[in-house]
Amino acid sequence: MAAFKPENVEDFYEMGEVLGSGHFGQVRQVRERSTGTLWAGKFMKIKKSPCSLLGLDRGGVEREVEILQAVQHTNIVTLRDVFESRAEVVLILELVSGGELFDFIAGKENLLESEAIEFMKQILEALRFMHSKNIVHFDLKPENVMLSDNSSHPVIKLIDFGLAQRLRQGEEYISTSGTPQYIAPEVINSEPLSTAADMWSIGVITYILLSGLSPFQGYTDEETLRNILAITYEFDDRVFSTTSSMAKDFIQKLLVKDPRERMTADESLLHPWIKPITRTQATKRNRSSINMKNFKKFNARRKWKMSYNMVWMCNRFVRLKLLCKSSNPDPLQRDCESDAEDTETKPASLLRRRLSSSS
Ligand code: ATP
Repeated sequence: MAAFKPENVEDFYEMGEVLGSGHFGQVRQVRERSTGTLWAGKFMKIKKSPCSLLGLDRGGVEREVEILQAVQHTNIVTLRDVFESRAEVVLILELVSGGELFDFIAGKENLLESEAIEFMKQILEALRFMHSKNIVHFDLKPENVMLSDNSSHPVIKLIDFGLAQRLRQGEEYISTSGTPQYIAPEVINSEPLSTAADMWSIGVITYILLSGLSPFQGYTDEETLRNILAITYEFDDRVFSTTSSMAKDFIQKLLVKDPRERMTADESLLHPWIKPITRTQATKRNRSSINMKNFKKFNARRKWKMSYNMVWMCNRFVRLKLLCKSSNPDPLQRDCESDAEDTETKPASLLRRRLSSSS
């Protein structure tokens, strides 16, 4: 693993604008002092003690770094450097300046399936590469699919490997983390997980991309989770009238309850919707289009929820800080108690939802 440099990051990089905020810190544009090159600095607060409420476990950050180093691929954000101070770890990442794929698409008047497929193919290429190394993202959602730049042919960049895991042979991995709309049934059921969990999320993302509807979204997180377990989705003709049957088949082969029966990244790349074999198949993709009116609505709602969650998270952060100060002036002395986030987050027993995510 790359050494965590003890030097002050600001001696090497000049701070710039805030690009985004996450669960435990901010991402800022930074300028390398020696070359003038622009990068993204991901600033992550580290827990002061194992039972502290604020911050990330150092072990988790080490895992994110180790995984980012292992997944060097055109369609995955690159890690350049890591700095560490007493309270913070800073990842210096490739600057991904093209924004989120969904925002880029929402800015268009219309989009053919064949154009959407060019992006899907790149996401699948990244996953094929990761999965071949037994690395699973576990948090695939529109916010984590970005574009390299603002050119007319931007390249997909997957970001946020905070929940990613390298699965080891002979070891079971169980986790209930993720974002309700996009998580696979086996995550909700606390079953051992595999690379197939990412493929489920691809099924959900594709469904939304084509229709502007989220296949399992309920009024509450609990309802969403129940819908996922019951696999209650359909292709409503009113919404999917311009969708090709190949696209529906692609989704149906991903939204499969049994992870062993689900299409893999390798198989997805060979599906006729992605890689047409006959001329008729290729033509169909050029005749079918995404439901842009619905998609724009979905994206506007998603952005609104993201801002709402961010405000909620800031308020909660302030409350927690006040609580820490008033109940115990020295967090290192505090007994380990259950994490307040677990009890406040719905549904508590099932899911540690990532609070900055939209659901
Ligand atoms: P979350 O709690 O949502 O999982 P996080 O703390 O893991 O977030 P990221 O998702 O990695 O943090 O980053 C937060 C936001 O910062 C992203 O949604 C994105 O807008 C922006 N961002 C992250 N990495 C980059 C990058 N390399 N270039 C440009 N912007 C970035």
